[in-house]
Amino acid sequence: MSLKKELLVCSELNENFIPTKEIDNGRFVRNPERPSRLRYVHEYLVENFESITPEHFSEEWILKVHDEKYYEYIKRKSAEVDGEYIPEVFFVDPIFDTGTPILRESFDAARKAVNVVLTSVRYVLENRRPVYALTRPPGHHAMRNYGGGYCYFNNVATAARYLENSGLRIAILDVDFHHGNGTQDIFYDDPSVLYVSIHGDPRTFFPWYSGYESEIGEGKAEGTNLNIPLPGGSDKHAYLEALEVAIKKIDSYMPDFLLISLGTDTHAEDPVGRFSLLSQDFETIGNKIATELCEKIQRVCIVHEGGYKARANFSAVKNFVRGFLGQS
Ligand SMILES: [Zn+2]
Repeated sequence: MSLKKELLVCSELNENFIPTKEIDNGRFVRNPERPSRLRYVHEYLVENFESITPEHFSEEWILKVHDEKYYEYIKRKSAEVDGEYIPEVFFVDPIFDTGTPILRESFDAARKAVNVVLTSVRYVLENRRPVYALTRPPGHHAMRNYGGGYCYFNNVATAARYLENSGLRIAILDVDFHHGNGTQDIFYDDPSVLYVSIHGDPRTFFPWYSGYESEIGEGKAEGTNLNIPLPGGSDKHAYLEALEVAIKKIDSYMPDFLLISLGTDTHAEDPVGRFSLLSQDFETIGNKIATELCEKIQRVCIVHEGGYKARANFSAVKNFVRGFLGQS
């Protein structure tokens, strides 16, 4: 595979959407979900790969994932807000933490992030070339009727619903440091989408209430949700063992399309995640996913999620992509 020929990038960093603070242990701290976190990743991807331009998609796709009441809340609150609104998290606002404030730009940024991912998957469908969807705010913590974890609309889930419309079997591999509670919530009773996640053990790490091995899906979807929690400090060795299990599960499901929720907060230098993966480990991870899954599935879209240290994100993505494209 030729590096420039195969992979494309579709991006929108929403530079004007800048949350500044969140509450941690009763104090205001800096909110790390800012455009600057992806600046170097963006430079690298657009300099090395052909870009496709995000297009506008109707809100109908978001409404296949999120309740209309929740969607309208984000829209209305963004239009009304003056400054930065920190949500009342206990059954007042439909947002479950303080890291997900409402700014005037929140709704527009979240809509544009969905557009990036939908543009990307449509391109993959039509051209069978992998696309890297680089955008923010991230999406995998956004549930049907709750935002949180810096996420408003679930980008990857919206893409899965869009693809389902074409009659495809979809698998989502979530390799962000945190469990994608939102993605799990949306597909928990839906056998048409397989969700597999490797993440920090929720007994210790966000989102605490979900991400346990016992959560396997319900009803007809039993067996289509696989959580692989790992302890803090896990290194390449432990991670690759977990990835082996994840790959086997996805392989046995025989999907037509693979969505990868790629969070680079698994990097050892990330200030939020607590794994010990080094930059070069991402090359091995990218290569393993590509050779053991993507060569069979062919239709693949990488969707960026978390990752909060700009340089570490860059090293992780550069190495992941090199491995993914067999450049090592
Ligand atoms: Zn994360």
